[in-house]
Amino acid sequence: KGIKKYFPIKSGFLRRTTGHVKAVDGVSFQLKKGETLGIVGESGCGKSTTGRMIMRVLEPTEGSILFEGQDIAKMSPGSLRKLRKDFQMVFQDPYSSLNQKMTVRDLIAEPFRIHNQPLSHSEIDGAVCRLLETVGLRTGDRFRHPHEFSGGQRQRIVIARALALNPKLIVADEAVSALDVSIQSQILNLMVDLKREYNLSYIFISHNLAVVKHISDRVGVMYLGNMVELAPKQGLFAQPLHPYTEALLSAAPEPKRIERRERIILQGDVPSPANPPHGCPFHTRCPKAFDRCAMERPALKEVVPDHQVACFLY
Ligand code: SF4
Ligand code: MG
Repeated sequence: KGIKKYFPIKSGFLRRTTGHVKAVDGVSFQLKKGETLGIVGESGCGKSTTGRMIMRVLEPTEGSILFEGQDIAKMSPGSLRKLRKDFQMVFQDPYSSLNQKMTVRDLIAEPFRIHNQPLSHSEIDGAVCRLLETVGLRTGDRFRHPHEFSGGQRQRIVIARALALNPKLIVADEAVSALDVSIQSQILNLMVDLKREYNLSYIFISHNLAVVKHISDRVGVMYLGNMVELAPKQGLFAQPLHPYTEALLSAAPEPKRIERRERIILQGDVPSPANPPHGCPFHTRCPKAFDRCAMERPALKEVVPDHQVACFLY
């Protein structure tokens, strides 16, 4: 609810704060249990920062993050630690997120140790074997090291590790972006299967529209630290309402699209989040902008059932 993340800009010899990068500037949305919410947008739009605040890897500057009724944005480190096992994050680069010196067994078992699970050596070994099988790896793989695996297999190891403590929520940030397209769909399908099996909810962050379309139930579109459109997947892809979403979809290569959309070329670059435009954050590039757009910021509101958009055209 209304989450913001402002990073101070420090400059000069005295490192004084001379401004703020408004990475996330007042974003609100809900995630239902068992749902996959895709968050899409160009790099620098604030989607990773949003994911990291939900994980509480980053502290929000403002706003609340309610998880089963508790505000985790204001939770003490102690109570947060207890909740921590319910959230897991899967990042883009499985190579750097796995300690290369550890065996796969120790990597997957590490969450048990961090969270002081009272498990014997053989119970842990059994759990690791089951997790490896769940993600489509062999139990013998537990004695090997991450560098002996391909990118797709490494991401399977990361997912096994994320599942170790039976989480409720997984935030996946560009989880398949570093993989070949054929491997991407294998990992996405695995994640869809695991969601059912483990009763998971996902926040799936990606710049890749095809990936988000494949996995999401609902999709949120971010631009310059704002959520500009939020809708069930079918509605968003069939009938995008926000001019930015329209442009984004028109630029995505999609061979099987029935009705071809005219490609919308946006003028100029995304403005700097250190100096975002007044009014609608998109007005400097919006082909449909009018007077009001430069003066006021449109709020995200429901204009079609379940379909929210932040734009004065509606
Ligand atoms: Fe474009 Fe105005 Fe809508 Fe913003 S509010 S997206 S500038 S039409
Ligand atoms: Mg990112």
